[in-house]
Amino acid sequence: MSSVPAEDEAVVMVSAVAHYAYCPRRCGLIYVENLFDDNVFTLLGSAAHVRADQPTETTKHGVIIEHALPIWSDKHGLCGRADVVEFHPDGSILPVEYKISPKHRIEHARFQLCAQAICLEEMFGRAVTSGAAYSSSSHQRVSVAFTTELREETARIIELIRKMLVEQNLPPPVNDRRCPNCSLVHLCVPEGISNLASVHCEDFLFLPSDREVAE
Ligand code: SF4
Repeated sequence: MSSVPAEDEAVVMVSAVAHYAYCPRRCGLIYVENLFDDNVFTLLGSAAHVRADQPTETTKHGVIIEHALPIWSDKHGLCGRADVVEFHPDGSILPVEYKISPKHRIEHARFQLCAQAICLEEMFGRAVTSGAAYSSSSHQRVSVAFTTELREETARIIELIRKMLVEQNLPPPVNDRRCPNCSLVHLCVPEGISNLASVHCEDFLFLPSDREVAE
């Protein structure tokens, strides 16, 4: 369990957690260098988020559904916005994250959802035990259980991001099969950087399948 961040320590955006889980350098390019670029996958992702990005509250079958809900955790130094949060009649709270990837390729969303759960637990004082990633390409939900292991790994990612932000340190490129589908490949130049220095990228958190995409 991480300690409460000091006032001068960086606040971590919840969305940064998914980027870091996909590739630490991608996270650094966005949040350290303030760089971003779109490709077809990010544009499709933005289109899929249009509904989820509109702050609204609806009720369906007794479930209160909040879209674009601001979330935060003082304890973990987190803030951001949840695509969808469902408040069920039995008291359970379920965050839902929208992704364009097919349901079997949304591994890195697990960490983002877990970071959302950490925020929601602090905000509402209730345990959040599971969430779901919604694949807009297959229109299917994948349930994600917030296990002890997932919580520990998510907390580790949050602290790695905070360290990166405080030190303004850009991680090395992974230069692997994640890169062709990454919208930042032309800003990152992974092959060129990797050829300049021998880098070790064994510490990446998630090795996607061949066609995994960064949203
Ligand atoms: S191009 Fe590759 S190394 Fe560079 S940010 Fe994207 S995934 Fe990471």
